[in-house]
Amino acid sequence: MLYIIPTPIGNLEDITLRALRILKESSLVLAEDTRTTRVLLDHYDIHTHMESYHKYNEHGKLAYVADRLQAGETVALVSDAGTPGISDPGFLVVRECVRQGIEVECLPGPTAAIPALVVSGIPCDRFVFEGFLPQKKGRSTRIASLAEEKRSMVFYESPYRVLKTLEQLMAVLGSHRQVAVCRELTKVHEEIVRGTLEEVVSHFRTHAPRGEFVIVVEGSTSSEKGKMHHSLDDAE
Ligand code: SAM
Repeated sequence: MLYIIPTPIGNLEDITLRALRILKESSLVLAEDTRTTRVLLDHYDIHTHMESYHKYNEHGKLAYVADRLQAGETVALVSDAGTPGISDPGFLVVRECVRQGIEVECLPGPTAAIPALVVSGIPCDRFVFEGFLPQKKGRSTRIASLAEEKRSMVFYESPYRVLKTLEQLMAVLGSHRQVAVCRELTKVHEEIVRGTLEEVVSHFRTHAPRGEFVIVVEGSTSSEKGKMHHSLDDAE
C-alpha cells in the first residue's frame, strides 16, 4: 500500500493523528528533502527509515518503489510541505501504482490552496487551481487563456515573481478584479492582502514580498463584459 501523506505548510501542529501513525508504521518514508522531513519526524519522535524522492530522481526510482510495494511493504510519500502531487512530486508514482494495481490512499490534510481560497472572501464554490504559472515560454498565453475564466483562480507564486505576476494579471484581467494575496499561511507572519488588482499591485510596489504566497483572483463577472483588456506578448 502506498500512502500519500500531507504534511504541515508551516505550523507543525497541522498534521493528523492518522498521518503520524502511518508515518510511524510504514517501512519506508519517501521524502522530497530528507532534512526537511527529519525535522517533522524528530518533532513527533518517529524513526522510520527515509529515502529521498524528488523531481530529479522520481523517474529513476519508480520501478524500485513499485517493487517494494509489490513485495507487500507499506510506503509513505511526503513532500516538503502540503500534499504530495500538488505542485510537488507524487503524480508519477501514483500513476505507476494505478497501472500495476497497487493500492494507493491519499490522506486528507494540509495544502496551501484551500485555506487561501476559503479565507480570500472570493467565491469558493467553484475554482480552478493553476499552480505555478510557466516562468518563461507560454506564460502570457496561459494568463491570456484565463481572461474569460468565470471561476475563482488560485495560483502559487514565489516571492520574487509575485509583483510581476500581479501586474501581468492586471494587464490582462483588468484593474478592478478582486484579489487576495495570502502570505505565510499558518505561520507567525500570516497575512492576507485583499483588494482590487490595482490596489494590491500598489501595496506590493511599496512592501517588498517576503515568504510564501498564494494568489486568489476573482473570476470574470458579467458586468465586465465589453471592457477592453490589454494582452501580453509571449516574449515577455
Ligand atoms: N504541496 C504544496 C501544497 O499542497 O500546497 C505546494 C508545494 S509548492 C512547491 C510551494 C508553494 O506552495 C509556495 O511557493 C507557495 O506558493 C505555496 N505555499 C506553501 N506553503 C505556503 C504557506 N504557508 N503560505 C502560503 N503559500 C504557501
